[in-house]
Amino acid sequence: MADFARPGAEQWVPEGGNLAELRAAAPSCQGCELYLDATHVVFGSGSQQADLMLVGEQPGDSEDRQGRPFVGPAGRLLADALAQAGVPGDSAYVTNAVKHFRFEERGKRRLHKSPAVAHIVACNPWLEAEVRAVRPKVIVAMGATAGRGVLSRTVRVTAERGRVLEDRLPAAEDARVLVTVHPSAVLRLRGTPEFDREFDGLVADLRTAAALLRPGGATVPPRRWSSDAPAQS
Ligand code: SF4
Repeated sequence: MADFARPGAEQWVPEGGNLAELRAAAPSCQGCELYLDATHVVFGSGSQQADLMLVGEQPGDSEDRQGRPFVGPAGRLLADALAQAGVPGDSAYVTNAVKHFRFEERGKRRLHKSPAVAHIVACNPWLEAEVRAVRPKVIVAMGATAGRGVLSRTVRVTAERGRVLEDRLPAAEDARVLVTVHPSAVLRLRGTPEFDREFDGLVADLRTAAALLRPGGATVPPRRWSSDAPAQS
């Protein structure tokens, strides 16, 4: 389980806080050890009225230095994908399942290290509070870490991506949830034959999310995932 003993974020999250109150409180969080080495807490960004919420894994190196989500190379790829899907970039609220950058140092470089389940669980009160504050109609969890953060279960991205899941979120019971790949996973394929296919797949999943927000989008039926064959994320 955890390689540390920390209390989780709950005691630092203002009860019933709006986005401004949550954002103001986030830098004080000591819910896990990740705050010790990171430069900034990276809280979500976007309007409290957003109908679409995009959830990623954790901040990267650029995000940690700037204190804003999705401002690095993966963020630029996401912006391209949103544009191709017809989603105005500023219409979505973007955040991460874990709010501090986890990394390991190699010389002067800081290499991304995936958050452990314990970090996702520790940080989950922030994500739940964001969902309660924004009350999005559609949430897109990008990657397995985001999927766990949003759904509190193991998510099989390859098997479950691109469709409305049946899970109901206590924090936003009316929100429809989709899973897709994380933009950084697509970015890693740049220069390979697989890149175009994976990028197009991300765009297609974002189009599905956008369609749910349009009048008539409510007719997109939820599909069951429990009978799917296991797949790697
Ligand atoms: S990663 Fe989340 S729980 Fe851990 S210190 Fe940062 S904000 Fe708090």
